[in-house]
Amino acid sequence: MNEEFLNKVNIIDSSKVSCSGVGSDSHPIVYLDLSTGKVISCPYCGTKFKKK
Ligand SMILES: [Zn+2]
Repeated sequence: MNEEFLNKVNIIDSSKVSCSGVGSDSHPIVYLDLSTGKVISCPYCGTKFKKK
């Protein structure tokens, strides 16, 4: 069980999310498809998202 991993998943109330990084980790905006219901990691910054 990796608690740090769980804590970093952002729960999104939509099947799509955009990510442009956070703070100094900014990157070109990308749109991620969450419709599978799985945890999706941003390919740039590794931020994790999951559909609610
Ligand atoms: Zn990102």
